[in-house]
Amino acid sequence: MTSFARDLANPFSRAIAAAGRRFLGTITHVRTAEPVAALTFDDGPHPLFTPRLLDVLAQHQARATFFVIGTQAAAHPDLIRRIVAAGHVIANHTHQHIRLPETDRLTRLRDIGQCRRVLGPNGARLLRPPYGGQSVGSRIDALLLGYEVVTWNMHAEDWAGHDTDYMAERLVRQLRPGSIILLHDALLTPRVVAAADREPTIQAVDRFLQHTSPQYRFVTVPELMRLGTPVRTRWFKPAQ
Ligand SMILES: [Zn+2]
Repeated sequence: MTSFARDLANPFSRAIAAAGRRFLGTITHVRTAEPVAALTFDDGPHPLFTPRLLDVLAQHQARATFFVIGTQAAAHPDLIRRIVAAGHVIANHTHQHIRLPETDRLTRLRDIGQCRRVLGPNGARLLRPPYGGQSVGSRIDALLLGYEVVTWNMHAEDWAGHDTDYMAERLVRQLRPGSIILLHDALLTPRVVAAADREPTIQAVDRFLQHTSPQYRFVTVPELMRLGTPVRTRWFKPAQ
């Protein structure tokens, strides 16, 4: 290739790559210098643990984003109302917590759509794939349904049965401006029996917020996206 052709090709391929990231990328965090971050909670709502968590968040004036499972949301409309009334955001974690890459396309579209209907106007157009599983096909489906896909760039491994000290310390150590933090207010399919009890995680969130706020402000994902530049990455992996 001549250098002239290369000069033409490079901006072109860069533009293609940028467009690919824009439309098929997955938001893992936000680029910002401000001390802001987003707490996110998956798999709820849960009748016991979600109200406990809401009290902790209220004590620290923290806002969060709840990626709820449609079946759970349908079973607990009162909790959904309470989450929304407290200023948090509700978003889509599929209706039946399906493994997106391993599910056929029609079932996948139907399932995400079912969760969207349950959430109604309260549901933000944000989707979190269960088990972090995503294929190019499932990402295109999310795009067609008008969703941004949001994963995370830090977590406390709160599905593994660790104690409060371990999880709180891990969260404090990892926190950076613009972080999106993965946590669970319920676990639909606990792999460790002890992890079904969300109380250690809720206490870890409490301790983490004691250490970090008010220096850090905890906002919803849509607000975090407004406060900085969303970082979109290639995130294609089987459900784990
Ligand atoms: Zn989940």
